[in-house]
Amino acid sequence: MLEYSIFYFKEMAMILGLTGGIGSGKSTVSKIFLSMGIKVFDADLIAKDILETEQVKEEIKEKLGKEFINLKSNSVDKELLKKEVFNNSKKLNILNGIVHPRVVDIYKKKYLEFKDKKEIVIFDVPLLFEVNLERYCDKVIVVDIDLKVQIERIKNRDNIDVALINKIIAAQMSREERNIKADILIENNGSLEELKQKIEKIIKDIERGKI
Ligand code: ATP
Repeated sequence: MLEYSIFYFKEMAMILGLTGGIGSGKSTVSKIFLSMGIKVFDADLIAKDILETEQVKEEIKEKLGKEFINLKSNSVDKELLKKEVFNNSKKLNILNGIVHPRVVDIYKKKYLEFKDKKEIVIFDVPLLFEVNLERYCDKVIVVDIDLKVQIERIKNRDNIDVALINKIIAAQMSREERNIKADILIENNGSLEELKQKIEKIIKDIERGKI
């Protein structure tokens, strides 16, 4: 039984980066941390908010095309944009050039806010290494998964075909490169219960000063 509480972490300070390939289980890991009372800052949510700012919508219109802005709702058509950029690496780079610096800026502020606090916090960032956000983390957790399991889980979760899944995986850092950079590697081919136990162990190791 899990018996951690916020009190349990009171005297510990650590910013943990959390990354991994698409569908590796980052959000699932984040939810487990959240259930332990640990704060999680999710880059996908941060990027979503950034996409709704007027300045970013203007840049998308100007650099990628006005068809990506839904005129009725005045919001970014994320599905269309996703399909477009994963079929065109030049456009993916343009979009990343618009969004990533803003995401990094927000994490820099979070780092400054939490670096001296006695608290464990999680920076859940799919492209953490690609945008060099490890510089704002004490340790980085990488969630690793076998390609077959990865494709199967994404297929079950999302309504996208295997060809697009493969394109997204190919556009990301390779599994090997990412795993080498990990301070803590979590293998997530098994059950949710196994995953939970691995996270409990990480927290215990932090508490004992082993990490
Ligand atoms: P993305 O990169 O797309 O944001 P992610 O890395 O956050 O994905 P999750 O959404 O957490 O990945 O997991 C992908 C899918 O796999 C989800 O449907 C999740 O419920 C499922 N999943 C994750 N871990 C396990 C597990 N250990 N056992 C069974 N299903 C799992």
